[in-house]
Amino acid sequence: MFEHLQPLPQDPILSLLGEYRVDTHPHKLDLGIGVYKDEQGNTPIIGAVKEAESRLLTSEQSKSYTAPAGTAEYNHLASALVFGTEHPALKDQRIISAQTPGGCGALRMGAEFLRGCSQKSRVWVSLPTWANHAPLLTGAGLEIAEYPYYDYATKGIQFEAMLQTLEQAHAGDFVLLHGCCHNPSGADLNPAQWQAVADLMARKGLIPFVDMAYQGLGNGLEQDAFGVRLLAEHFPEMLVATSCSKNFGLYRERTGTLFIIAANPAQAETAGSQLFSKIRSHYSMPPAHGAAIVETILADTGLTLSWKCELASMRERIQGLRQQLVSAITASDIEGDFTFIQHQFGMFSFLGISPQQVEQLRQDYSIYMINSSRMNIAGLNQSSMDYFVSALAKVLS
Ligand code: PMP
Repeated sequence: MFEHLQPLPQDPILSLLGEYRVDTHPHKLDLGIGVYKDEQGNTPIIGAVKEAESRLLTSEQSKSYTAPAGTAEYNHLASALVFGTEHPALKDQRIISAQTPGGCGALRMGAEFLRGCSQKSRVWVSLPTWANHAPLLTGAGLEIAEYPYYDYATKGIQFEAMLQTLEQAHAGDFVLLHGCCHNPSGADLNPAQWQAVADLMARKGLIPFVDMAYQGLGNGLEQDAFGVRLLAEHFPEMLVATSCSKNFGLYRERTGTLFIIAANPAQAETAGSQLFSKIRSHYSMPPAHGAAIVETILADTGLTLSWKCELASMRERIQGLRQQLVSAITASDIEGDFTFIQHQFGMFSFLGISPQQVEQLRQDYSIYMINSSRMNIAGLNQSSMDYFVSALAKVLS
Protein backbone atom coordinates (compact mmCIF):
# COMPACT_ATOMS: atom_id res chain seq x y z
CA MET A 1 0.00 0.00 0.00
CA PHE A 2 2.71 2.46 0.91
CA GLU A 3 4.35 2.35 -2.52
CA HIS A 4 1.40 4.35 -3.94
CA LEU A 5 1.90 7.23 -1.53
CA GLN A 6 3.02 10.58 -2.93
CA PRO A 7 5.44 12.68 -0.88
CA LEU A 8 3.91 15.85 0.52
CA PRO A 9 5.72 19.18 0.36
CA GLN A 10 7.41 20.20 3.60
CA ASP A 11 5.78 22.85 5.76
CA PRO A 12 7.01 26.17 4.21
CA ILE A 13 8.09 27.65 7.57
CA LEU A 14 10.03 24.54 8.58
CA SER A 15 11.75 24.24 5.20
CA LEU A 16 12.74 27.91 5.43
CA LEU A 17 14.30 27.17 8.82
CA GLY A 18 16.21 24.25 7.27
CA GLU A 19 17.62 26.57 4.59
CA TYR A 20 18.53 29.17 7.20
CA ARG A 21 20.44 26.65 9.31
CA VAL A 22 22.80 25.68 6.48
CA ASP A 23 23.32 29.26 5.30
CA THR A 24 26.85 30.43 6.16
CA HIS A 25 26.33 34.18 5.58
CA PRO A 26 27.75 36.03 8.63
CA HIS A 27 24.74 38.38 8.84
CA LYS A 28 22.02 35.83 8.11
CA LEU A 29 18.73 36.71 9.76
CA ASP A 30 15.82 34.40 10.59
CA LEU A 31 12.57 36.37 10.64
CA GLY A 32 10.51 33.31 9.68
CA ILE A 33 9.71 30.89 12.45
CA GLY A 34 7.39 32.21 15.18
CA VAL A 35 9.50 31.93 18.30
CA TYR A 36 10.54 34.75 20.61
CA LYS A 37 14.22 35.64 20.39
CA ASP A 38 16.35 37.78 22.68
CA GLU A 39 18.92 40.40 21.72
CA GLN A 40 21.48 37.62 21.07
CA GLY A 41 19.07 35.78 18.78
CA ASN A 42 18.49 32.97 21.30
CA THR A 43 15.21 31.57 22.57
CA PRO A 44 16.24 31.20 26.21
CA ILE A 45 14.53 29.27 28.99
CA ILE A 46 12.67 31.75 31.20
CA GLY A 47 14.25 32.07 34.68
CA ALA A 48 11.07 31.07 36.55
CA VAL A 49 10.78 28.00 34.30
CA LYS A 50 14.34 26.90 35.15
CA GLU A 51 13.66 27.40 38.84
CA ALA A 52 10.35 25.49 38.66
CA GLU A 53 12.11 22.64 36.87
CA SER A 54 14.79 22.40 39.52
CA ARG A 55 12.13 22.33 42.25
CA LEU A 56 10.21 19.64 40.35
CA LEU A 57 13.30 17.51 40.07
CA THR A 58 13.35 17.06 43.82
CA SER A 59 9.64 17.28 44.61
CA GLU A 60 8.15 15.07 41.91
CA GLN A 61 7.15 11.72 43.40
CA SER A 62 5.61 9.79 40.53
CA LYS A 63 5.33 9.50 36.77
CA SER A 64 2.07 7.60 37.00
CA TYR A 65 -0.85 8.52 34.72
CA THR A 66 -2.74 11.75 35.35
CA ALA A 67 -6.11 12.09 33.54
CA PRO A 68 -7.45 13.11 30.10
CA ALA A 69 -8.03 16.62 31.52
CA GLY A 70 -4.52 16.79 33.01
CA THR A 71 -4.22 17.96 36.61
CA ALA A 72 -6.96 19.89 38.42
CA GLU A 73 -4.48 22.38 39.88
CA TYR A 74 -3.05 23.28 36.48
CA ASN A 75 -6.55 23.73 35.07
CA HIS A 76 -7.56 25.91 37.99
CA LEU A 77 -4.50 28.19 37.71
CA ALA A 78 -4.71 28.35 33.91
CA SER A 79 -8.37 29.42 34.12
CA ALA A 80 -7.52 32.26 36.50
CA LEU A 81 -4.81 33.47 34.14
CA VAL A 82 -7.16 33.63 31.17
CA PHE A 83 -10.41 34.75 32.80
CA GLY A 84 -9.18 36.45 36.00
CA THR A 85 -10.16 35.03 39.40
CA GLU A 86 -13.40 37.00 39.63
CA HIS A 87 -14.93 36.21 36.26
CA PRO A 88 -18.67 35.44 36.56
CA ALA A 89 -18.42 32.40 34.26
CA LEU A 90 -15.78 30.90 36.57
CA LYS A 91 -17.69 31.72 39.71
CA ASP A 92 -20.84 30.22 38.21
CA GLN A 93 -18.88 27.04 37.43
CA ARG A 94 -19.77 27.21 33.76
CA ILE A 95 -16.20 26.61 32.57
CA ILE A 96 -14.54 23.24 32.24
CA SER A 97 -10.95 23.01 31.14
CA ALA A 98 -8.47 20.49 29.86
CA GLN A 99 -4.69 20.74 29.83
CA THR A 100 -3.71 19.94 26.24
CA PRO A 101 -0.59 19.23 24.17
CA GLY A 102 0.04 22.87 23.24
CA GLY A 103 -2.36 25.31 21.64
CA CYS A 104 -2.57 22.95 18.65
CA GLY A 105 -3.87 20.20 20.91
CA ALA A 106 -6.44 22.63 22.35
CA LEU A 107 -7.59 23.75 18.90
CA ARG A 108 -7.84 20.22 17.58
CA MET A 109 -9.68 18.86 20.60
CA GLY A 110 -11.98 21.89 20.53
CA ALA A 111 -12.74 21.12 16.89
CA GLU A 112 -13.32 17.43 17.69
CA PHE A 113 -15.69 18.44 20.46
CA LEU A 114 -17.61 20.84 18.19
CA ARG A 115 -17.85 18.22 15.47
CA GLY A 116 -19.38 15.88 18.03
CA CYS A 117 -22.01 18.53 18.92
CA SER A 118 -23.48 18.80 15.47
CA GLN A 119 -23.42 16.92 12.18
CA LYS A 120 -22.89 19.96 9.99
CA SER A 121 -20.46 22.33 11.64
CA ARG A 122 -19.05 25.40 9.99
CA VAL A 123 -16.28 27.52 11.46
CA TRP A 124 -15.47 31.01 10.18
CA VAL A 125 -11.80 32.00 10.21
CA SER A 126 -10.14 35.35 9.52
CA LEU A 127 -8.62 36.02 6.13
CA PRO A 128 -5.72 35.55 6.50
CA THR A 129 -5.21 33.33 9.50
CA TRP A 130 -2.44 31.18 10.95
CA ALA A 131 -1.61 28.49 8.37
CA ASN A 132 -2.24 25.61 10.76
CA HIS A 133 -5.81 26.62 11.62
CA ALA A 134 -7.40 25.07 8.53
CA PRO A 135 -5.67 21.66 8.86
CA LEU A 136 -6.42 21.50 12.59
CA LEU A 137 -10.08 22.35 12.12
CA THR A 138 -10.87 20.51 8.89
CA GLY A 139 -8.96 17.48 10.16
CA ALA A 140 -11.70 17.14 12.78
CA GLY A 141 -14.37 17.39 10.07
CA LEU A 142 -15.34 21.06 10.42
CA GLU A 143 -16.10 23.02 7.31
CA ILE A 144 -14.17 26.29 6.91
CA ALA A 145 -15.58 29.64 5.79
CA GLU A 146 -13.64 32.90 5.76
CA TYR A 147 -14.40 36.45 6.90
CA PRO A 148 -12.34 39.42 5.62
CA TYR A 149 -9.91 40.66 8.25
CA TYR A 150 -6.58 42.21 7.31
CA ASP A 151 -6.57 44.97 4.74
CA TYR A 152 -3.24 44.82 2.88
CA ALA A 153 -3.83 48.31 1.47
CA THR A 154 -4.57 50.22 4.69
CA LYS A 155 -2.59 47.79 6.95
CA GLY A 156 -5.54 47.71 9.33
CA ILE A 157 -8.66 45.61 9.85
CA GLN A 158 -11.42 45.62 7.23
CA PHE A 159 -13.87 45.91 10.03
CA GLU A 160 -17.01 46.77 8.07
CA ALA A 161 -16.40 43.94 5.61
CA MET A 162 -15.77 41.57 8.51
CA LEU A 163 -19.13 42.46 10.07
CA GLN A 164 -20.96 42.30 6.76
CA THR A 165 -19.63 38.82 6.08
CA LEU A 166 -20.43 37.55 9.56
CA GLU A 167 -23.99 38.80 8.97
CA GLN A 168 -24.20 35.99 6.39
CA ALA A 169 -23.29 33.29 8.94
CA HIS A 170 -26.01 30.95 10.17
CA ALA A 171 -27.10 30.47 13.76
CA GLY A 172 -24.96 27.74 15.30
CA ASP A 173 -21.89 28.53 13.16
CA PHE A 174 -18.61 28.91 15.05
CA VAL A 175 -16.35 31.93 14.65
CA LEU A 176 -12.63 31.61 15.31
CA LEU A 177 -11.22 34.86 16.70
CA HIS A 178 -7.61 35.57 17.67
CA GLY A 179 -7.66 36.65 21.32
CA CYS A 180 -4.67 38.98 20.81
CA CYS A 181 -1.55 39.39 18.65
CA HIS A 182 -3.24 38.24 15.45
CA ASN A 183 -1.06 35.77 13.58
CA PRO A 184 0.01 36.61 10.86
CA SER A 185 -0.96 40.30 10.73
CA GLY A 186 -0.44 41.77 14.24
CA ALA A 187 -3.67 43.76 13.70
CA ASP A 188 -5.94 43.37 16.73
CA LEU A 189 -9.54 44.34 17.43
CA ASN A 190 -9.87 47.30 19.80
CA PRO A 191 -12.34 47.14 22.74
CA ALA A 192 -15.13 48.86 20.79
CA GLN A 193 -14.64 46.43 17.90
CA TRP A 194 -14.72 43.43 20.26
CA GLN A 195 -18.00 44.75 21.60
CA ALA A 196 -19.46 45.20 18.11
CA VAL A 197 -18.39 41.67 17.08
CA ALA A 198 -19.87 40.29 20.31
CA ASP A 199 -23.17 42.10 19.68
CA LEU A 200 -23.42 40.84 16.12
CA MET A 201 -22.53 37.28 17.08
CA ALA A 202 -25.00 37.23 19.97
CA ARG A 203 -27.77 38.59 17.74
CA LYS A 204 -27.02 36.00 15.05
CA GLY A 205 -26.62 33.07 17.45
CA LEU A 206 -22.97 32.47 16.49
CA ILE A 207 -20.62 30.68 18.86
CA PRO A 208 -17.16 32.10 19.63
CA PHE A 209 -14.05 29.94 19.46
CA VAL A 210 -11.15 32.11 20.64
CA ASP A 211 -7.54 31.16 19.97
CA MET A 212 -5.23 33.00 22.36
CA ALA A 213 -1.67 31.84 21.82
CA TYR A 214 0.13 35.06 22.83
CA GLN A 215 -1.39 36.31 26.09
CA GLY A 216 1.03 38.80 27.63
CA LEU A 217 2.98 39.53 24.46
CA GLY A 218 0.67 42.23 23.08
CA ASN A 219 -0.40 44.89 25.57
CA GLY A 220 -0.14 43.04 28.88
CA LEU A 221 -1.51 39.86 30.49
CA GLU A 222 -4.79 41.45 31.56
CA GLN A 223 -5.23 43.73 28.56
CA ASP A 224 -4.67 40.87 26.10
CA ALA A 225 -7.49 38.89 27.72
CA PHE A 226 -10.02 41.70 27.23
CA GLY A 227 -11.82 40.12 24.27
CA VAL A 228 -11.97 36.63 25.75
CA ARG A 229 -13.32 37.90 29.06
CA LEU A 230 -15.89 40.11 27.36
CA LEU A 231 -17.23 37.25 25.25
CA ALA A 232 -17.24 34.87 28.23
CA GLU A 233 -19.51 37.28 30.09
CA HIS A 234 -22.07 37.47 27.32
CA PHE A 235 -22.16 34.10 25.63
CA PRO A 236 -23.76 31.05 27.21
CA GLU A 237 -21.56 28.81 25.09
CA MET A 238 -18.05 29.28 23.73
CA LEU A 239 -14.61 27.71 23.43
CA VAL A 240 -11.16 29.10 24.19
CA ALA A 241 -7.83 27.55 23.20
CA THR A 242 -4.67 28.88 24.83
CA SER A 243 -0.99 28.07 24.62
CA CYS A 244 1.94 28.32 27.04
CA SER A 245 4.42 27.98 24.17
CA LYS A 246 5.18 31.67 23.82
CA ASN A 247 4.35 33.35 27.12
CA PHE A 248 6.11 30.66 29.21
CA GLY A 249 8.56 29.78 26.43
CA LEU A 250 7.52 26.12 26.70
CA TYR A 251 7.31 25.42 22.97
CA ARG A 252 8.60 21.86 22.94
CA GLU A 253 6.94 20.88 26.21
CA ARG A 254 3.55 21.04 24.46
CA THR A 255 1.45 22.85 27.02
CA GLY A 256 -1.89 24.51 26.40
CA THR A 257 -5.47 24.56 27.62
CA LEU A 258 -8.92 24.14 26.13
CA PHE A 259 -11.82 25.82 27.92
CA ILE A 260 -15.44 25.03 27.21
CA ILE A 261 -18.01 27.45 28.57
CA ALA A 262 -21.54 26.12 28.87
CA ALA A 263 -24.85 27.64 29.90
CA ASN A 264 -24.85 26.10 33.39
CA PRO A 265 -22.73 23.79 35.58
CA ALA A 266 -24.65 20.65 34.60
CA GLN A 267 -24.16 21.31 30.88
CA ALA A 268 -20.50 22.13 31.51
CA GLU A 269 -20.05 18.77 33.18
CA THR A 270 -21.73 16.95 30.32
CA ALA A 271 -19.63 18.85 27.78
CA GLY A 272 -16.57 17.86 29.81
CA SER A 273 -17.50 14.19 29.66
CA GLN A 274 -17.75 14.46 25.87
CA LEU A 275 -14.44 16.27 25.60
CA PHE A 276 -12.56 13.88 27.90
CA SER A 277 -13.84 10.93 25.91
CA LYS A 278 -12.52 12.55 22.69
CA ILE A 279 -9.16 13.16 24.37
CA ARG A 280 -9.02 9.56 25.58
CA SER A 281 -9.50 8.30 22.04
CA HIS A 282 -6.86 10.65 20.58
CA TYR A 283 -3.87 10.80 22.91
CA SER A 284 -5.38 9.59 26.18
CA MET A 285 -3.68 12.17 28.38
CA PRO A 286 -1.60 15.31 27.89
CA PRO A 287 2.15 15.39 28.60
CA ALA A 288 2.77 16.40 32.21
CA HIS A 289 6.10 18.22 32.43
CA GLY A 290 5.24 21.61 30.88
CA ALA A 291 1.99 21.84 32.82
CA ALA A 292 3.80 20.96 36.06
CA ILE A 293 6.18 23.87 35.38
CA VAL A 294 3.30 26.30 34.79
CA GLU A 295 1.52 24.98 37.87
CA THR A 296 4.67 25.43 40.01
CA ILE A 297 5.12 29.00 38.78
CA LEU A 298 1.52 30.11 39.15
CA ALA A 299 1.13 28.52 42.59
CA ASP A 300 4.10 30.49 43.94
CA THR A 301 3.91 34.26 44.36
CA GLY A 302 7.64 34.81 43.94
CA LEU A 303 7.92 32.70 40.81
CA THR A 304 4.79 34.30 39.35
CA LEU A 305 6.28 37.74 39.87
CA SER A 306 9.58 36.73 38.31
CA TRP A 307 7.76 35.20 35.31
CA LYS A 308 5.59 38.31 34.87
CA CYS A 309 8.70 40.55 34.92
CA GLU A 310 10.45 38.45 32.31
CA LEU A 311 7.32 38.32 30.16
CA ALA A 312 7.01 42.12 30.43
CA SER A 313 10.59 42.54 29.28
CA MET A 314 9.94 40.25 26.29
CA ARG A 315 6.87 42.30 25.40
CA GLU A 316 8.73 45.59 25.82
CA ARG A 317 11.59 44.33 23.68
CA ILE A 318 9.16 43.57 20.86
CA GLN A 319 7.43 46.94 21.24
CA GLY A 320 10.84 48.67 21.26
CA LEU A 321 11.92 46.81 18.12
CA ARG A 322 8.71 47.84 16.38
CA GLN A 323 9.46 51.49 17.11
CA GLN A 324 13.12 51.23 16.17
CA LEU A 325 12.26 49.54 12.90
CA VAL A 326 9.81 52.29 11.97
CA SER A 327 12.36 54.98 12.90
CA ALA A 328 15.14 53.28 10.93
CA ILE A 329 12.91 52.89 7.86
CA THR A 330 11.73 56.50 8.14
CA ALA A 331 15.34 57.71 8.37
CA SER A 332 16.32 55.69 5.29
CA ASP A 333 15.45 56.50 1.70
CA ILE A 334 12.71 53.85 1.62
CA GLU A 335 9.48 55.31 0.30
CA GLY A 336 6.11 54.61 1.86
CA ASP A 337 4.56 54.67 5.30
CA PHE A 338 5.62 51.86 7.61
CA THR A 339 4.27 53.39 10.83
CA PHE A 340 1.60 50.67 10.95
CA ILE A 341 4.29 48.33 12.35
CA GLN A 342 4.32 50.45 15.50
CA HIS A 343 0.58 50.10 15.98
CA GLN A 344 0.42 46.32 15.65
CA PHE A 345 0.81 43.75 18.41
CA GLY A 346 2.79 40.62 19.14
CA MET A 347 5.59 39.06 17.17
CA PHE A 348 4.28 39.40 13.63
CA SER A 349 3.56 41.99 10.99
CA PHE A 350 3.31 41.84 7.24
CA LEU A 351 6.08 43.99 5.83
CA GLY A 352 3.92 44.44 2.74
CA ILE A 353 6.54 43.58 0.11
CA SER A 354 6.06 41.20 -2.84
CA PRO A 355 7.04 37.50 -2.83
CA GLN A 356 9.78 38.40 -5.35
CA GLN A 357 11.19 40.98 -2.97
CA VAL A 358 11.03 38.44 -0.10
CA GLU A 359 12.94 36.04 -2.36
CA GLN A 360 15.55 38.70 -3.16
CA LEU A 361 16.08 39.41 0.54
CA ARG A 362 16.74 35.70 0.99
CA GLN A 363 18.95 35.22 -2.08
CA ASP A 364 21.04 38.38 -1.84
CA TYR A 365 21.10 39.12 1.90
CA SER A 366 20.30 35.82 3.66
CA ILE A 367 17.28 37.43 5.32
CA TYR A 368 14.60 34.79 5.76
CA MET A 369 10.88 35.45 6.04
CA ILE A 370 7.85 33.68 4.63
CA ASN A 371 6.59 34.56 1.16
CA SER A 372 3.60 36.49 2.43
CA SER A 373 6.18 38.93 3.95
CA ARG A 374 5.07 38.06 7.48
CA MET A 375 8.09 38.82 9.60
CA ASN A 376 8.90 37.88 13.16
CA ILE A 377 9.80 41.25 14.68
CA ALA A 378 11.52 39.51 17.63
CA GLY A 379 14.04 38.07 15.16
CA LEU A 380 15.60 41.56 14.80
CA ASN A 381 18.10 43.07 17.23
CA GLN A 382 20.20 46.23 17.66
CA SER A 383 23.06 44.94 15.57
CA SER A 384 20.97 43.54 12.72
CA MET A 385 18.60 46.52 12.39
CA ASP A 386 20.83 48.58 10.08
CA TYR A 387 21.72 45.56 7.96
CA PHE A 388 18.04 44.69 7.61
CA VAL A 389 16.90 48.22 6.72
CA SER A 390 19.70 48.78 4.19
CA ALA A 391 18.93 45.41 2.54
CA LEU A 392 15.27 46.35 2.42
CA ALA A 393 16.12 49.74 0.91
CA LYS A 394 18.11 48.03 -1.87
CA VAL A 395 15.38 45.51 -2.58
CA LEU A 396 12.71 48.23 -2.72
CA SER A 397 14.74 50.72 -4.81
N1 PMP B 1 -2.53 29.57 17.54
C1 PMP B 1 -1.74 30.46 16.94
C2 PMP B 1 -2.35 31.66 16.31
C3 PMP B 1 -0.37 30.26 16.89
O1 PMP B 1 0.40 31.16 16.28
C4 PMP B 1 0.18 29.11 17.50
C5 PMP B 1 1.66 28.86 17.48
N2 PMP B 1 2.36 29.27 16.41
C6 PMP B 1 -0.69 28.21 18.11
C7 PMP B 1 -2.04 28.47 18.11
C8 PMP B 1 -0.27 26.91 18.74
O2 PMP B 1 0.87 26.86 19.43
P1 PMP B 1 1.44 25.58 20.13
O3 PMP B 1 0.70 24.36 19.67
O4 PMP B 1 2.86 25.54 19.75
O5 PMP B 1 1.23 25.82 21.59
